[in-house]
Amino acid sequence: TPKIYTSPFPSVPLVERSIFTHLFFSSSDDPNAVGGFPGSAPAFIDAPSGTTLSRAQLKQLALSVAYGLRNNAQTRAKRGDTVLIYSQNSLAWPVVLFGSIAGGLRCTLANSAYNARELAFQYTDSGAKLIFTSEEGIATVKETFRELEVSDAEANKRIIVMGNDLQWAGGPAAQRHPAAVDLLRLEELIGKGALKEEEKFDGKQAHETVYLCYSSGTTGKPKGVETTHRNVTSLVDIVKCGFPEVKYGVDKLLGLLPFYHIYGAVKLLQFPFASGIPVIIMTRFDPVQFCANIERYKITVSFIVPPVLVVLSRHPAVDQYDMSSLKILFSGAAPLGAALSKQVVTRLASKSKGNTKITMLQGYGLTETSPTTHLVPVPYGERKIGSIGALLPNLEARLLVDGGGDGDVEATIGQPGELWIRGPTVMKGYLNNPSATKDSITSDGWFKTGDIAIRDNDGFYFIVDRRKELIKYKGFQVPPAELESVLLTHPDIADTAVIGVDSAKEATELPRAYVVHARPDTVKTEGERNAFAKEIQKWIQTKVARHKFLRGGVVVIDIIPKSAAGKILRRDLRERAKEELAGQ
Ligand code: AMP
Repeated sequence: TPKIYTSPFPSVPLVERSIFTHLFFSSSDDPNAVGGFPGSAPAFIDAPSGTTLSRAQLKQLALSVAYGLRNNAQTRAKRGDTVLIYSQNSLAWPVVLFGSIAGGLRCTLANSAYNARELAFQYTDSGAKLIFTSEEGIATVKETFRELEVSDAEANKRIIVMGNDLQWAGGPAAQRHPAAVDLLRLEELIGKGALKEEEKFDGKQAHETVYLCYSSGTTGKPKGVETTHRNVTSLVDIVKCGFPEVKYGVDKLLGLLPFYHIYGAVKLLQFPFASGIPVIIMTRFDPVQFCANIERYKITVSFIVPPVLVVLSRHPAVDQYDMSSLKILFSGAAPLGAALSKQVVTRLASKSKGNTKITMLQGYGLTETSPTTHLVPVPYGERKIGSIGALLPNLEARLLVDGGGDGDVEATIGQPGELWIRGPTVMKGYLNNPSATKDSITSDGWFKTGDIAIRDNDGFYFIVDRRKELIKYKGFQVPPAELESVLLTHPDIADTAVIGVDSAKEATELPRAYVVHARPDTVKTEGERNAFAKEIQKWIQTKVARHKFLRGGVVVIDIIPKSAAGKILRRDLRERAKEELAGQ
């Protein structure tokens, strides 16, 4: 019989309705309340200008955008249609996201650093009809449509600009991008009318897909992860128990992680709203602005990724601003080292006007699990340093060791095994990809994470290795298969394999490519090999988004090690890289 672990937290009752209904419900005893908190309470604040959307304003704007999307002569969106959102964080984000959801649409969230090729893939694969883009993204979106051989006139009908001009929210005006003149703008969807109520997804319909974020899973290229309303409402409800100290009227959250990653989309745009906590929105991570905003807005909680801590451990801004309001720093999306964690807590405590309250916490999860499955509760912050925490309620976990031909067998206490998860937050599957879905979710509902974990006697988990080929650069996915296929389009590359190497200095992995030259006689000397490696490192920068650059180096090699079946022996290359980098 399998050893199934359950959560130390008591189970919570879950609902079957749309995300919108769950977050924005109104109650008859208090008509001014939105989602259980006063409608006048702040929901989202634009950090630079201070422009604030209250909960009631956000609800009204979302119902208005929903009406606009469905009735505008150009968009005419219908329930079940997909819209793609391509923008760095902004105050328009929650309006666009909740507006689309209220209108019954699905949202596919794209990395704002994507180039036209990457965006074209996601647009086509997700079956999107429209693209919401920031002003900064317009040129790439236009190029995307040209790549897809869509005429300029037709392309212009499929683009909606979510601009920097915040007049629609009572905020400051901003200069409009010259390329935006022919395009529909978010503000034109607002104020033409409003849906009386949101599109409903009650009961069984709650299992319909609402998000399509992209993840490569355990192998291959990025795939659309079908996240349902029920996945997200469940996550919001089960994650709350991990933060009993985060309270309405007291806490404020700094939102700097990208909203297009499931971590941002759910933990910044949905969980705080459900708890009545305002989110102060930053466009991107900037150390000085990060510290300045903590002082200005008296931030108490921030979700971050480990590389942010590297900056906080050294940057002078930490000394220049009052950071004493900060209570919780919560790290996720990539492994957090115990030493780094301690270093930052000590620095904040000693340098920041006696802030000794701060707790450093870690969580873990995947796009496929909507995202969080584990977190460290505050009282355990110090005691369980380095742990990803305990299993969240309503979830089950197993740890499986490769049984060497006999199938998978359960790991014993303290033994590493692959983490499997079952529960209401596990995705429906990969979009239009039944074989990848079947490989990652067993017939009885267990999702295979591809991460190797240990569980201690107290029920705390530690990630010790990764079985899958995925590389993460500063929390962003870098699928090796995708980089390999791009590299193979280079005329001088005959074969290649990409792996991740650790950089302790930056608290991240870095993608490193091994390449076989198509004409080996031209790269005989070390000088020739180095020159070719440099050329490839430069060339890749013209082909992929920044987080996929080959920062871990390029190495010219005679042959890529492969198994008899032709599979790249990545473990051998990882060992090789360790030796090569040991001297540096
Ligand atoms: P994503 O789907 O982009 O969120 O990536 C999920 C992957 O990130 C997981 O399968 C892990 O490999 C990694 N990951 C996320 N959180 C952590 C963590 N706290 N420690 C170690 N790895 C993590």
